[in-house]
Amino acid sequence: MAPEVAEALLPYIHELYGNPSSMHIFGGRLHRKVGEARAQIAALIGADSEEIIFTSCGTESDNTAIMSAVESYPSKKHIITSRVEHPAVLNFAKHLARKGYRVSFVPVDNQGRFDMEFFLKALDDNTVVVSIMHANNETGVIFPIEEIGAILKERNILFHTDAVQTAGKVPINVKSLPVDMLSISGHKLHAPKGIGALYVRKGTRFYPYMIGGHQEHGRRAGTENVPSIVAFGKACELALDNLENEAVHVARLRDKLEKALLDKCPDPRINGDPVHRLPNTTNISFEYVEGEAILLRMDEYGICASSGSACTSGALEPSHVLRAMGIPYTAIHGSIRFSLSRYSTDEEIDKVIEIVPPIIKELRTLSPYGKERTLKC
Ligand code: PLP
Repeated sequence: MAPEVAEALLPYIHELYGNPSSMHIFGGRLHRKVGEARAQIAALIGADSEEIIFTSCGTESDNTAIMSAVESYPSKKHIITSRVEHPAVLNFAKHLARKGYRVSFVPVDNQGRFDMEFFLKALDDNTVVVSIMHANNETGVIFPIEEIGAILKERNILFHTDAVQTAGKVPINVKSLPVDMLSISGHKLHAPKGIGALYVRKGTRFYPYMIGGHQEHGRRAGTENVPSIVAFGKACELALDNLENEAVHVARLRDKLEKALLDKCPDPRINGDPVHRLPNTTNISFEYVEGEAILLRMDEYGICASSGSACTSGALEPSHVLRAMGIPYTAIHGSIRFSLSRYSTDEEIDKVIEIVPPIIKELRTLSPYGKERTLKC
């Protein structure tokens, strides 16, 4: 969490603990503060305040958007999404498929780029909603949302984008971006975990996912998480103020890290389109080495990253994103994603550059596939 964000949050768990729906002085003050935060969030993406609905996280925003579309147009039974979405969209689409919806999953090429031809062929008169992420969380690849949205607008089909990875990292302006709904999440931009927002364009039919009280004008029931909402607003304000500088700063560090690892390790590969991607993400495969082993060794030095395979039920499950890109299994299992932020420093990157290559070398020596390659390291 950004220190300024934590500072903004604290009074709302101590003296300003009221409920914004209450008539008394505590409630009224909080109601205004929630309104201010809504305006700060709206400003980050060029929206109007009334178009922002607070949610509990990015997942809730994604689920709400898709659910709202299918509930609003019950006669239409076809959904389009991509094969590389975050589980918040992918698993929700699979859930709807089990309920009888037809779901088209748009593939990507070996650089993680969206297959526009497949998408155009998949569209039909029964399509109720298209949900395509703005940028991928594993590779950072940015999808052509402008182009997709323009096509959908012409055909009058609802368009939702998961912008959890892009909000605060690249400019977003929904005044010109042709999307009907857009999801964001607090913890990706230095706000607390457990707070999110859904943008819903004025005039879009909306059906609430959380049904109960009158909060959020009946669009999302449940007493507001005021401390996190205030913090989220502050984080969006900071992100907007720093947008350009931060992108330049993290891209420079990311490029420095990438170049050094590519130079110092044998047969590395960058996973994902090297041009159309987020400034803060790099996904690198060190073939024939187990990513989990790299993570554990890096962790000993305080270097935190993620791998392209996750441990589920005791087995290493390869990333669905890298699989969809057709990356060989030996490279998927050896893939590491480094994510940088405004707080990343040259010193930290230098440390990673110094520590990671010997780790790869050591692990390759242990690998039954890697022995013959160690000499090159
Ligand atoms: N969508 C994307 C692209 C994400 O990266 C994430 C989280 O990592 C989510 C959705 C889910 O957000 P949350 O963890 O706030 O539910």
